[in-house]
Amino acid sequence: MAKALGKNRLVHYADGMAQAAGEKARLLEDLGGAVSGGQLRVHYQPTIVLSDGSTTGYEALLRWEHPERGLIPPVEFIPLAEEGGLIVEIGRWVLEHAARQAVVWSAEADRPIGMAVNLSPKQLADDDVVGTVSDVLARTGLPARQLTLEVTEGVLVRDVDLVVDQLQALRRLGVRIAIDDFGTGYSSLSYLRRLPADIIKIDRSFVQDLDSGGRSTTLVASIIELARSLHLEVVAEGVETPEQRAVLGELACSHAQGYLFGRPQPAVEHGQAAEAAPVAEPAAV
Ligand code: C2E
Ligand code: MG
Ligand code: MG
Ligand code: MG
Repeated sequence: MAKALGKNRLVHYADGMAQAAGEKARLLEDLGGAVSGGQLRVHYQPTIVLSDGSTTGYEALLRWEHPERGLIPPVEFIPLAEEGGLIVEIGRWVLEHAARQAVVWSAEADRPIGMAVNLSPKQLADDDVVGTVSDVLARTGLPARQLTLEVTEGVLVRDVDLVVDQLQALRRLGVRIAIDDFGTGYSSLSYLRRLPADIIKIDRSFVQDLDSGGRSTTLVASIIELARSLHLEVVAEGVETPEQRAVLGELACSHAQGYLFGRPQPAVEHGQAAEAAPVAEPAAV
């Protein structure tokens, strides 16, 4: 009896797995058409100077407007794009759109507006990443120093020497490198030593604990101090309340991002959008 039940359960489990796999395969197929089908959207979230609230630039955050499922967040389809080998093409698409947008906003503001684009470990491991970035800069006319590429410590899961080489080559282009979600990895300090970086982004989880005071405040203070001693710029992520902003101000944190200052939104909500871009569509997959 118990055996039969166990077997049954196994069958159900296998059914569930097959269903999930089918679902995933369907979504991946849809994703293949999303780029050429114009279903990808870039939302932009401002980064501000804490002392005066002025906007220095934006972070590009990808969304997929699925015709049936609606807006799908990146956590749900970036891993899929990585597995399915689509991330490099999608990444190039984001980079070009974001760069174009930064050029438009800079002209509009008559000052350099920065643009940060997230790079996943697979994108960074791609042989062509440096070529792709320099190509996008050349085609869009965005000065390299206005572009920041954000990476997490996840990049170090791959070939460390290769990753460090790629990041150094990117920096030689004049692009800045930010370490995203800083503090969440167990090896934060050791990878800081290895990764060529210009900016540290303090993970939202630390920032959101600032209200309650105590240890988080001490932690954030030490990250800011660490950044200062290494001559790195520091950005606090996920600032939602005036209390968090006040504490960060007291700790002399220079830059911040978060719902308190602005949510990720389409370009039109922030000002003039780039023309429907003559972006080269990658070959159909
Ligand atoms: P991230 O780069 O750390 O981006 C910050 C995330 O926090 C974004 O989520 C943003 O919408 C959210 N956020 C910003 N301010 C606040 C706040 O005040 N409160 C809260 N609760 N959340 C806030 P999103 O857009 O869902 O992106 C999630 C992650 O997906 C990103 O984390 C990034 O790792 C990845 N991602 C997004 N766009 C791209 C892309 O174009 N390429 C790659 N490779 N990854 C991307
Ligand atoms: Mg980021
Ligand atoms: Mg982050
Ligand atoms: Mg993240």
